[in-house]
Amino acid sequence: MTDRIAKLTSKDFVTDQDIRWCPGCGDYSVLANVQRVMPELGIPRENFVFVSGIGCSSRFPYYMNTYGFHTIHGRAPAFATGIKASRPELSVWVVTGDGDGLSIGGNHLLHIIRRNVDLQILLFNNRVYGLTKGQYSPTSQIGMRTKSTPDGSIDHPVDPLAFALGAGATFVARAIDVDGVHLKQLLRRAYSHPGTALIEILQNCPVYNDNEWVEVEDRKSRINAALVLEHGEPLVFGSEDRRRGIRIHDGIPTVVELRKDEDPIAAGVAVHNERYLTPAYAFALASLKRPEFPLPIGVFRAVETATYDALLQEQVAAAVVKHGVGSLHDLLHSGETWTVEPD
Ligand code: SF4
Repeated sequence: MTDRIAKLTSKDFVTDQDIRWCPGCGDYSVLANVQRVMPELGIPRENFVFVSGIGCSSRFPYYMNTYGFHTIHGRAPAFATGIKASRPELSVWVVTGDGDGLSIGGNHLLHIIRRNVDLQILLFNNRVYGLTKGQYSPTSQIGMRTKSTPDGSIDHPVDPLAFALGAGATFVARAIDVDGVHLKQLLRRAYSHPGTALIEILQNCPVYNDNEWVEVEDRKSRINAALVLEHGEPLVFGSEDRRRGIRIHDGIPTVVELRKDEDPIAAGVAVHNERYLTPAYAFALASLKRPEFPLPIGVFRAVETATYDALLQEQVAAAVVKHGVGSLHDLLHSGETWTVEPD
């Protein structure tokens, strides 16, 4: 078995299905990088399960040569919870989008996160409904004109990471579709986290919302537009000739201009700590928006607490000790039962 695992390559995770994403879609980059990381994880291919709802990104399971479920709109978290609860040894990955995960599936996403089911959630955020041809989504910005908002959206958008933090997420991170090196780092981190690990992936939809994330996707502008989070390092961003940092005082972030060679910590710049037990600091990071602030990229929060599936297994084991191994037949025929006879 070990030899067989060691021989796996990214090609082993590629299927023979025709990929139906539009040319230039950011989904291609995410797929390629997920396929590159899977062989590194050292688990048999048959122990991976990809679960999705509905949307462009939810076609993902067709393109992964693993087990997979393309389920119903917004309900991937419910299916994934069932899979992980009944087969805890499997590596379960939920793939969703801003519409699937935060509109139709917002309720399900809330509950999988608060339960801390041990699995990974990849939330592709392109701020638009792509599959249904360009309606505004829960993450679309105010004023965005789409087929369903011809005069501009008047909805306040939801921030996926603030939503996850509010639900008690133990691991939240943000990645960029085209930054493969960084995305792979986050995929490995998410896999090794015990509990629900949610990565928001900023994904370009060139057909219905092109260049939504161009400032952080473009390598040249990224240096000023993105804040790369590193645990234990100061929140510094910007080019050599204009270094800046983020100071957080009383929970309120501000941008600090740094002189050449100035020590950012001495200048009051915050030091990134992804392990704060309370989520207030991670919330402050999630509140950083363009253009006033750089967009944070990396792990916002990574703390450990009991997982749902571990607690469930403990509860089942204790029940077996107390009552013995159960029988589904006996359960179904216990208590008050009746038969519905045909007319
Ligand atoms: Fe990608 Fe947008 Fe095309 Fe969907 S509609 S496949 S998100 S480019």
